Amino acid sequence: MSECSSCKSKDDCKSKGITSCETSIKVLPKYGNVKNIIGVISGKGGVGKSTITGIMATILRKKGFKVGVLDADITGPSMPRFFGINAERSIITPIDENIVKFQPVETESGIKVMSMNLITQLEDQPVIWRGPVITGVLNQMYTNTEWGDLDYLLIDMPPGTGDVALTVMQDFPIKEMIIVSTPQDMVSMIVKKMVIMAGKLGIPIKGVVENMAYIICTGCDKKLRVFSKKSAEEHAEYLGIPLIGELPIDLEFTAALEDGKAEEYVLDNPLYLLIFEGLY
Ligand code: ADP
Repeated sequence: MSECSSCKSKDDCKSKGITSCETSIKVLPKYGNVKNIIGVISGKGGVGKSTITGIMATILRKKGFKVGVLDADITGPSMPRFFGINAERSIITPIDENIVKFQPVETESGIKVMSMNLITQLEDQPVIWRGPVITGVLNQMYTNTEWGDLDYLLIDMPPGTGDVALTVMQDFPIKEMIIVSTPQDMVSMIVKKMVIMAGKLGIPIKGVVENMAYIICTGCDKKLRVFSKKSAEEHAEYLGIPLIGELPIDLEFTAALEDGKAEEYVLDNPLYLLIFEGLY
């Protein structure tokens, strides 16, 4: 038995003077039983990481799983918009002077969502905090949300290899990660940094979703590869991870997102079901 297994938490270890356990003790949510935590991550913003998180959550829920989504993108949260719940607010209950408990907001299909945009008074109110404060708030949103029993908690990670990504990857018991990219050499190069970071932290990667890989020409039905002549397979090969699938730039999907009808659109879309239904 390692000496770390005698500690109940990081603080417990610290108080016992066992400092080597800093990275091996994982933090669990306090209010619920979460079976699998999956991180969805990208190197750069705007490639569709939140969109893929939303698609995956919708399809997992359709399969009958109990699903939660933690929007860990504290300064650029977008999950409430995906699910059309941006007018709702989380109920916040104080536990003591510095600690609160959050109630997640449930989507129409029963996905439990927690996001900074369900906490701020106004949806467009910016969060102007330094890294340690952001990390502290994220920790509370993860630990102190009333998740209940969940089969899957999907974490929509902030882009890049910064402070928050490191906290999530080091402290939370992530089972595996899904990488989201667009097929462009420059994006792949930055995404590869995430792949290497995950490797260093010992987190398995399920594979990469190449989003916005092509657009269907309306006149000729051809796939136009707008960003790169290379195939999604070639980009996945460079990253050294399996290709989960490639998605087109889909303007009807964008319209459904703007109308808060993304869940309905996803469940009616044979390509999304084909790519993601068999994943879990
Ligand atoms: P990220 O989380 O990586 O910053 P988002 O998921 O927020 O990116 O996507 C950025 C923008 O691109 C959003 O407005 C989203 O609606 C749009 N988008 C993402 N994927 C697609 C797609 N396959 N087709 C059309 N629009 C998309």
